[in-house]
Amino acid sequence: MGQSEPKILRMANEMSSFKWEDAPQEDLYSVCVHCGFCLEVCPTYLETGDENESPRGRVYVIKEADKGNLELDEAVTGPVENCLDCRACETVCPSGVQVGSLIEQTRGQIYFQNQEMTNQSSGGTPAKRTLEKLFLRGIFPHPKRLRSIGKLTRLYQRSGLKYVVDKTGLAQMLPKHLQEMQAVMPSVEAKFALESLPPVIEAEGTRKATAMLFTGCVMDVMFSKINKATARVCTKNGIEVHVPKRQVCCGALQVHAGDRVQARKLARTNIDVFFQSGVDYVVINAAGCGSSMKEYAELFRDDPEYRHKAEKFSESVKDISELLIQVGLRPPQGRVERDITYQDACHLCHAQKIRAQPRQVLQSIPGLNLIEMSESDYCCGSAGIYNFTHPDMSGKLLNRKMGNIPSDVDGIAVGNPGCMMQLKVGAYRQGMSLEVLHTIELLDLAYQKEESRVERY
Ligand code: SF4
Ligand code: SF4
Repeated sequence: MGQSEPKILRMANEMSSFKWEDAPQEDLYSVCVHCGFCLEVCPTYLETGDENESPRGRVYVIKEADKGNLELDEAVTGPVENCLDCRACETVCPSGVQVGSLIEQTRGQIYFQNQEMTNQSSGGTPAKRTLEKLFLRGIFPHPKRLRSIGKLTRLYQRSGLKYVVDKTGLAQMLPKHLQEMQAVMPSVEAKFALESLPPVIEAEGTRKATAMLFTGCVMDVMFSKINKATARVCTKNGIEVHVPKRQVCCGALQVHAGDRVQARKLARTNIDVFFQSGVDYVVINAAGCGSSMKEYAELFRDDPEYRHKAEKFSESVKDISELLIQVGLRPPQGRVERDITYQDACHLCHAQKIRAQPRQVLQSIPGLNLIEMSESDYCCGSAGIYNFTHPDMSGKLLNRKMGNIPSDVDGIAVGNPGCMMQLKVGAYRQGMSLEVLHTIELLDLAYQKEESRVERY
């Protein structure tokens, strides 16, 4: 398969409404036994009570479209686009139906169909598609452009312009969700981790492993301090950190939007960079990116050149909490006197099956009181860019989440930047004085308190 990846019509099933390459596979949907166990955990079904908005309903319409009994129209695209891709259904499914993969592959078909319709249309491109294309192809894959946007945002935050916008009510002209996002946006750092961290940072003490720090796209612009904290925590635990400058966005948002061609382009670069680095692992602190990179093998299932490399790569990807426990976490000595609850990011607990390790990290911190919340693994409504594309459903899920935050905590720990932003919006909306932190920030703080010193990078 070449780099340009021409859209190839599938010949295997001429009746199918999925007419392009990389279509949903029969062996994925045919294992559904219609038991309905998944219904009681699916947020969109629980909110609507509509079978079409359930995992079982979605698997059914995908199957019917592949059999040619349904067109690739609203009856299919609606339920597929409304899915959060949260994978809660996969956790409870006794047949192991990979609903997330089916949804993402079907979105790939919708993406191709939309492209064809756009090419045939004389009426111009709908705004949503133009915006998606701008961000998913024009901005996220280009680190320099992202950094420029980050620097402009920092200027906006520090020049007083943000203050003026807030005070004069100009912010009110933005859509509500954007208003809230800009109100809770973290301060953008002067230097991003990818540009400021040295290419190799030695492990402290005996070296137990080597790992490429994956800095991400939006993650490094909005939360570069978490990337820097991740590097510090790794070295404290005997992990030598490599920061290859050629790494790019993981492609998760592109996969969620159905742009699998662009996602593969990005994935190839990351796979090549990893093998050139010669490290043991790829370490990552963003659950959505980690989950996506662990699924590169599936993305390249029809690519004889990259399939094997992608499998090797995916096996090497580790969430930071997973890697720390695997190599043997060094318990910190510094105290962090906080009452903290923990939110399971969907792409950590459902997609990567990582639940115990982040809790073990938090419980290792002296002084930290971990208070569990109800429904900690229920989606907060962030789901990539779902909070922008489906603000109503996202808002309902966020309200439910905030209602489950224990009243006696002063902070929420979570392992995904999208959830962090969503929970910040939730706290802002409800006037709650809660700090939203990445799990690794708390561990880093405990290590720093051992020495009462400031950050080195
Ligand atoms: S739990 Fe699995 S097998 Fe049962 S209906 Fe849902 S997707 Fe199908
Ligand atoms: S991924 Fe989430 S929203 Fe989608 S069908 Fe499964 S449980 Fe429902």
